[in-house]
Amino acid sequence: MGVDARRLRFVLVEPSHPGNIGAAARAMKTMGLSRLYLVNPDNYPSAEATARASGADDVLAAATVCSTLDEALAGCNMVLGTSARPRNLEWPTLAPRECSAQVAQEQGGGGEVALLFGRERSGLTNAELERCQFRVHIPSNPDYSSLNLAAAVQILAYEMALAGSVQTPSDDVRQDDSHAEQIEVERFFEHLQEALIDIDFLDPDNPRQLMRRLRRLFVRTRLLTTEVNILRGILTAAQRQVKLVRER
Ligand code: SAH
Repeated sequence: MGVDARRLRFVLVEPSHPGNIGAAARAMKTMGLSRLYLVNPDNYPSAEATARASGADDVLAAATVCSTLDEALAGCNMVLGTSARPRNLEWPTLAPRECSAQVAQEQGGGGEVALLFGRERSGLTNAELERCQFRVHIPSNPDYSSLNLAAAVQILAYEMALAGSVQTPSDDVRQDDSHAEQIEVERFFEHLQEALIDIDFLDPDNPRQLMRRLRRLFVRTRLLTTEVNILRGILTAAQRQVKLVRER
């Protein structure tokens, strides 16, 4: 089973050049992809975007414009973030071909996938990358590793098409124990942080890298909805006990 274009969205986070948005739409359409999401685009819609989209103005016109990343990720089970440079804390990183294999695998289990692209000037923030189960890096010149945004979209779109399925993908019925949606995982992280503060494990004035490391741990394990519910139940129980002790 290959990549299913219908359950794959390309999300451009705060693109500043309308030309890149148009070129990204064109890159996607050439590879049979159409689900483009734009988070807070500067200067959009614009004539320049339409011109650069060339014959792909249908993809552009159908693009979903969102004001927050959360909105763009609604309904997604897996999020992957492209990055031109290594960051200070290692994160599971895939090359484009491994990325498409991962997408196909996730979709085989019924999942919906988002691939994030960052700002032209500064890429994705660390916080945004931490929302991703995987980072995707296009191997490139270590001394000049940053591709143009639409060029990066083209390479990933090509890899997705290469891994595309010729068969019609089956309409998997989502089961109760499927991978949690990213918003559920995000709420779990918020709850975890709150509980760790409550039990005096995390000092909000000196948080260090704790939440980051815990996020990395949990995104590696691909939590199921049932597991998120158990973990949150444990947190609630711990919080209840601390409250009882403090009230005594
Ligand atoms: N100066 C930024 C680069 C932004 S390039 C930085 O250092 O992060 C704009 C976007 O194109 C990136 O956020 C990423 O989504 C994509 N991109 C560019 N080069 C890439 C590469 N080598 N691998 C993966 N994505 C890349």
